Amino acid sequence: MNITETVLVINSGSSSLKYQLVDPNADGSVASGLVERIGEPISHITHTSGDQVVDEEKPVADHSDALREVLRLFDEVGPKLSEANIVAVGHRVVQGGRHFDSAKIVTDRIRDLIAELSPLAPLHNPPNLKGIDVARELLPDVPHVVVFDTAFFQSLPEEAATYALDKDVAEKYSIRRYGAHGTSHQFVSDRVAEIVGTKDICQIVLHLGNGASASAVKCGKAVDTTMGLTPLEGLVMGTRTGDIDPAAVFHLQRVAGMSVDEVDTLFNKQSGLKGLTGDNDMRAVRSRADSDDPDARLAIDVLLHRLVKYVGAYAAQMGALDVLTFTAGIGENDMMLRKELCERLSLFGVELDEAANAIRSKEPRTISTPNSKVQVLVVPTNEELAIAQQALALIK
Ligand code: AMP
Repeated sequence: MNITETVLVINSGSSSLKYQLVDPNADGSVASGLVERIGEPISHITHTSGDQVVDEEKPVADHSDALREVLRLFDEVGPKLSEANIVAVGHRVVQGGRHFDSAKIVTDRIRDLIAELSPLAPLHNPPNLKGIDVARELLPDVPHVVVFDTAFFQSLPEEAATYALDKDVAEKYSIRRYGAHGTSHQFVSDRVAEIVGTKDICQIVLHLGNGASASAVKCGKAVDTTMGLTPLEGLVMGTRTGDIDPAAVFHLQRVAGMSVDEVDTLFNKQSGLKGLTGDNDMRAVRSRADSDDPDARLAIDVLLHRLVKYVGAYAAQMGALDVLTFTAGIGENDMMLRKELCERLSLFGVELDEAANAIRSKEPRTISTPNSKVQVLVVPTNEELAIAQQALALIK
């Protein structure tokens, strides 16, 4: 293995453990894998190292067993961790509340602060913590670093972070806009600054994946974002509503007799593209729209309408729009969506270069014409690399 140092990046979910061994200096993934259905009778494990792909089905009782399986696979299939010069383990944590505006080395105190934030992210922080706890136990000799999805948005001005809610209630229950996907928005907006040669620009990043969010970044600092207290707010997503009148909750409780948990599941898991079409995968929705399926067409139009609204709002808030960037699964791959959105942004002088837009590539690229008043880019996101780079920078 010709690498100088690596970071093991761990993303621990409620029943899954995703990992990647990253060489942060070479921008590269050395090996990666996923343990799924942890705690169920049969779990599924995949591990990829170079050309080798291992697929196993076996019971994995809990996150500790899951990480033991991962360490076994590194040992049996490679690369051997003892030879990989791991300098840190990087953990993704969804909610950092107001405590964290940057990555941190894990100590018992930091661990406890993350636990304290669990009420704000009950579906995410507890499983993130499980990953941290088992990794600290099984890999005690390297520093562990936590990278927060919310950290990049701690720079939001108060007027963007504050809901117009009773002040005391908001304060008592920590209700404000924290944002999410921050690691991706920071990584992509930094790349944009490198590509255009300056941070002193007003840019909007559209992270359009199964989860979707937009951010407004002015001179390198996030000034607004679409996700709020939780990742539910904002754009139309694979299974989430995005913005919806909160009175719909009261209505469903009063009129449909739904419980809080039922509404939570409806809004987070059964809405968005899935709710509108039955499919949460944009490829399926796109191919149905191409065959004139009216539900699929409406779903894409609702998604576009919301995007136009936020691009317009963010441009107005920043007072300018220099660069608009697409990233994540849909943003990087759905050229038709990029074209449809850019056509709706002619007010801003956006001019798409159709040939450039049609190129498929894993490289960052400009897809607007030289005359376009806004430079439009596609910049692939890489959250694992971003976590590895932040971890490395911190321990150095
Ligand atoms: P992510 O969450 O970033 O992995 O993105 C997942 C989303 O990207 C899913 O909705 C996929 O359907 C979508 N996606 C991936 N490839 C394409 C493609 N070629 N065209 C349209 N959507 C795509």
